[in-house]
Amino acid sequence: MIKIKTLEEIELMRESALLVSKTLGMLASEIKIGVTTLYLDKLAEEFIRDHDAIPGFLGLYDFPNTLCMSPNAQVVHGFPTDEPLKNGDIISIDCGVVKNGFYGDHAYTFEVGEVEAATKKLLKITKESLYEGIRQLKIGNRVGDVGYAIQNYCENHGYGIVRELVGHGLGRKMHEDPEMPNYGRRGRGKKFKEGMVVAIEPMVNLGTSKINQLKDGWTILTVDRKPSAHFEHNIAIVNGKPELLSTFKYIYDVLGIISDEENEFRISH
Ligand code: MG
Ligand code: MG
Repeated sequence: MIKIKTLEEIELMRESALLVSKTLGMLASEIKIGVTTLYLDKLAEEFIRDHDAIPGFLGLYDFPNTLCMSPNAQVVHGFPTDEPLKNGDIISIDCGVVKNGFYGDHAYTFEVGEVEAATKKLLKITKESLYEGIRQLKIGNRVGDVGYAIQNYCENHGYGIVRELVGHGLGRKMHEDPEMPNYGRRGRGKKFKEGMVVAIEPMVNLGTSKINQLKDGWTILTVDRKPSAHFEHNIAIVNGKPELLSTFKYIYDVLGIISDEENEFRISH
């Protein structure tokens, strides 16, 4: 059942989302060659607790860390490790918090040092596909419209869309209805309603869409071991339109990126 949020609840969820955004921004200034993902995980846990919140993933389904850290061919659900980041790596960081009883949950794929052009393009297109999907999150549309938009955009570039893992409703639980696949057919699936809050999160592979899971029961990686990207935002439907609750601006401030990509999704403010 889809849990509709009041405007007051949406404002609380914005706080949760913004804390994740700030955590990812803090991490952006720490990601460099030689740093371990376990170190970044500790920084994130401290940062979240210092902001009167608790890490959302730690202990959820028995996950042992604050961050999912998925480098290179890992798609999602990788563990932080003591292996230092290398020049040319990409690292997908997925972060969740619980604040005021509500989850925030979003993700960004970072570059470490000099990344190959083909991989840079994968990151760019995957992030653009996220906004293609968000644009369809409005009254009158259905879940399949979002999935179709993401799939169509990425497959036009020859990339593989991961199907086994999907976006989701978000609220007092990390995973609420509806599931939000990154593929689909236009006009199919559940109808969007005022007050819905969802996480949209394309997971896109440079090569095949096929994935494996490691014996650890968590880590998902591409079968062909080519890179995979993951970007995730939290969005509410307000006044019939998509309203971004999360932001990449804290990351962009650190990385010196100037972007107006989020402007069209900030209607009510
Ligand atoms: Mg996430
Ligand atoms: Mg999610």
